[in-house]
Amino acid sequence: ARVDNPYVGATGYVNPEWSANAAAEPGGSAVANTPTAVWLDSISTIQGASGRMGLRAHLDKAVSQGANLITLVIYDLPGRDCAALASNGELGPTDIGRYETDYIDPIAKILADPAYANLRIVNIVEPDSLPNLVTNAGGTDGSTSQCETMKSNGNYETGVGYALNHLGAIPNVYNYIDAGHHGWLGWDTNLGPSADEFHKAATTAGATVDDVQGFIVNTANYSATVEPNFKVTDSVNGTTVRQSKWVDWNQYVDEQSYAQALRTTLVSKGFNSGIGMLIDTSRNGWGGSARPTGPGPTTSVDDYVNGARIDRRIHAGNWCNQSGAGLGERPTAAPASGIDAYVWVKPPGESDGASQPIDNSEGKGFDQMCDPTYTGNARNGNNPTGALPNAPLAGHWFSAQFQQLLQNAYPPI
Ligand code: BGC
Repeated sequence: ARVDNPYVGATGYVNPEWSANAAAEPGGSAVANTPTAVWLDSISTIQGASGRMGLRAHLDKAVSQGANLITLVIYDLPGRDCAALASNGELGPTDIGRYETDYIDPIAKILADPAYANLRIVNIVEPDSLPNLVTNAGGTDGSTSQCETMKSNGNYETGVGYALNHLGAIPNVYNYIDAGHHGWLGWDTNLGPSADEFHKAATTAGATVDDVQGFIVNTANYSATVEPNFKVTDSVNGTTVRQSKWVDWNQYVDEQSYAQALRTTLVSKGFNSGIGMLIDTSRNGWGGSARPTGPGPTTSVDDYVNGARIDRRIHAGNWCNQSGAGLGERPTAAPASGIDAYVWVKPPGESDGASQPIDNSEGKGFDQMCDPTYTGNARNGNNPTGALPNAPLAGHWFSAQFQQLLQNAYPPI
């Protein structure tokens, strides 16, 4: 039987491949024993491609480490990453059959092996997919034709439902659906529709809400867990901080408050009252010398917010290899009400995308949001990207970024 919160009392799996990369960096051994998620980002990662460990190798290693929890990322939907290009995948928009039979079915078969029955297996289900259907497919400014296609063909919902149903049939598996981050879905116009979208997917292709143990926010993103220096309810000379350029009328200024409110909404829409939230804290620490230590000046709402906020991004819509970021809270079980855990899902030091076009056989495209010289689009308010230069393809080791994440870690290393 499942426990209420799989992270309580758990020993998390340390991925030896990530750990070796981290330990090889100066100072990296201080964090190299941190549990991070294993991304199954293509069919070949199940068997293990080009000398890399496959799924069984990771599970066997988890058992031999004496770990009892492993976090996997299910990430290979047809038409993947429809509002961006950096993590486009191997399956085209109509390849739902291959997703089911060549990707989910073999994963389900391995996870159901009795050899792994004592592991709590957490699945992070398809980052960014359903949120993209909500905000980037409705004919709005941010819409892309690929997201319109995925909304109209229904293959994100079918794929997520199929994954939830088939993986959720295994008693020691815990499914958490990706729910974007506060700087994406935190407006009332997005939050309710997102909860509806998640419910729709979770009741498609044989899935039910019982196949869902929770949701994750901030996957591979940089939004702060808790903003210590101002609150959404603050105002300056009678003007709410919601009116500042940074907050831009959002209802939330950090991930924890967003996750807790979203949880309540999800339960009201029909998800089980026992669901829990995860927050990816791998790269949202925002420490270092640029970290503000208190409220900003009250000369204007913008001064007040900009002088205070620990998230130093140019715009909260920036997502690629953010300059100035640091490692966030180390993985922690049950850190706050409604929150199952802080987890490191994006393995720190792995790139979000290349800063220039690079030929590859992984399906990865070039996204200008990873180019430090690009001046933006509707999804980041037409701002500069804040991306680090000289980045390799998404998922590849990016030493300079890892160095900066270590340096700006908060809590400090
Ligand atoms: C990439 C994946 C990679 C993952 C973890 C994603 O952005 O597209 O290939 O496995 O990040 O680094």
